Amino acid sequence: MLDRIAAAAREAGRDPGDVTLVAVSKQQPDERIEAMLAAGQRVFGENRVQEARVRWPPRRAGVELRLIGPLQTNKAREALALFDVIETLDRESLARTLADEIQRAGAAPRLMVQVNTGEEPQKAGVRPPQADAFIAACRARDLPVEGLMCIPPELEPPERHFTLLAKIAGRNGLAKLSMGMSADYEVAIRCGATSVRVGSALFGGRVPR
Ligand SMILES: *Cc1c(COP(=O)(O)O)cnc(C)c1O
Repeated sequence: MLDRIAAAAREAGRDPGDVTLVAVSKQQPDERIEAMLAAGQRVFGENRVQEARVRWPPRRAGVELRLIGPLQTNKAREALALFDVIETLDRESLARTLADEIQRAGAAPRLMVQVNTGEEPQKAGVRPPQADAFIAACRARDLPVEGLMCIPPELEPPERHFTLLAKIAGRNGLAKLSMGMSADYEVAIRCGATSVRVGSALFGGRVPR
């Protein structure tokens, strides 16, 4: 996996060190996670607070943990305690709650704004026409937004969505782009991804409980 990521980066004329592999461990058995840790992988993504809360506290040393799934405002405090990065800042009420909780805790995670590039009704994320204003509103609250994240529509070629995300990040001065999953991480790297979120292609199929 790391070989393919590095090759895709080089083909795009990019430094392989500028692309982080986020190993998406949701619904994966503990043995596979232990094996990944033993192999030296240190950055992991989870999509649910509840699952991360059970899995990660005993294995947390030296690990960077990212929340890549929707965050309910009533779980914001717990998410701040668990995660180094929250990639799914997607609405004003969450921005407000996170700003309050960060102040209370005296420490902030790194943040990414999720953009609903396909404007899909069932999907989280700010819509592209609202993205600039939302990013500005987050900055006005002193939220440390470092980049953007997207999940393109399942049945469309992803390039257009990755390119749109890169464009919104560029005009807002944001350096980080979380985009690309098992099926399309190489495409995402060509489009400028600085992190790719890969689950099944890395661990094998998920095993729902
Ligand atoms: C599950 C998930 C992934 C990983 O999906 P794969 O197709 O297994 O690589 C990436 N991003 C998000 C937001 C996810 O929920």
